[in-house]
Amino acid sequence: MPRAINRRLFLGRTAGVGVGALFARAVGLEARSNPGGIGRVPILVTSHSNQTGQRAAEQAWELLSAGGSALDAVELAANVIEVDPEDTSVGYGGLPNENGVVQLDASVMDGATYNAGAVASLEGIKNPSSVARLVMERTDHVLMVGPGALALAKSFGFEEEDLMTERSRARWLEWRENRSESDDWGPPDHLRDRAEARIGGEPAFHYGTVNVLAVDASGDVAGITTTSGLSWKIDGRVGDSPIIGAGLYVDNDVGAAGATGRGEDVIKSCASYFMVERMRAGRTPQQACEDALEMIRRRYERLNLDFMPGEKFVALNRDGDYGCAWSYESRGLPQMTARDSGGLTVYEGVQFGA
Ligand code: ASP
Repeated sequence: MPRAINRRLFLGRTAGVGVGALFARAVGLEARSNPGGIGRVPILVTSHSNQTGQRAAEQAWELLSAGGSALDAVELAANVIEVDPEDTSVGYGGLPNENGVVQLDASVMDGATYNAGAVASLEGIKNPSSVARLVMERTDHVLMVGPGALALAKSFGFEEEDLMTERSRARWLEWRENRSESDDWGPPDHLRDRAEARIGGEPAFHYGTVNVLAVDASGDVAGITTTSGLSWKIDGRVGDSPIIGAGLYVDNDVGAAGATGRGEDVIKSCASYFMVERMRAGRTPQQACEDALEMIRRRYERLNLDFMPGEKFVALNRDGDYGCAWSYESRGLPQMTARDSGGLTVYEGVQFGA
């Protein structure tokens, strides 16, 4: 959950800061921010730091280091993560919507051609990022949704499959039986204890998405964001991941940025576009991620002084420097994986507002 801090105290510390200095000083970013990850081109980064994320980065590195394109590398890495049945945030095995249907969102952007493609609410296809690439390369459109996106995928030979695993189905059934004290799912009242608002000690909703960003040896930049979206979402709900500028943005002159977490905030704030523009203005990728969190926090402060954004941001510039930030209080520092000629690095970013 978003971190709650004493906002009045916090604002008191920063009173008098001019608007121009906002992003550098409003939360003491210069003091708090670490220098960020320093990589070298070619490079690939992903917001996943688990085993699968690392394996994906290693496999994509084989391609990148052999002169492959950033676009091919991000697709390869995203595909590895999408088919992992253990990963409940992306592709196959991703947690479903409230009806028990897995609806996937994904986007791809290619800096070399300034082209983009995306799919939303796509059902039955394990690799939505590859369908997004088809939209980008084989149609004159950017975003396709639902049955139309599925038909497109099938027309190119993608196989329609059941994306639920035993694990994701068990999680969904558990959620359905515990989601409300007053609904009719689950056993009768005399057989249940519904005092717990949480399931198994975990928050009832789950976030999770993967961003993959890369710069290749030619200096071209590409990115993918792919997700099963907010767990138990309302049928048809689309998050930020397939919205270019929100869940993903790439600019060959600058770099790339991606988002995970509460998609609604990211859509409203065009956060990935914002991060790329911050980098264009001279901020490091690490600073750009923190700037985006601060930008969102400020959007809400008039309404809720204690609100902290529930997102994780990652960014990579065209020189190979990278960073990430989030404001989750309970989860320690945000991590991401980077692979370049120096090897594999699991980088720890900044917990914003800490
Ligand atoms: N950003 C995704 C969405 O809102 C979810 C996530 O990252 O967990 O759909």
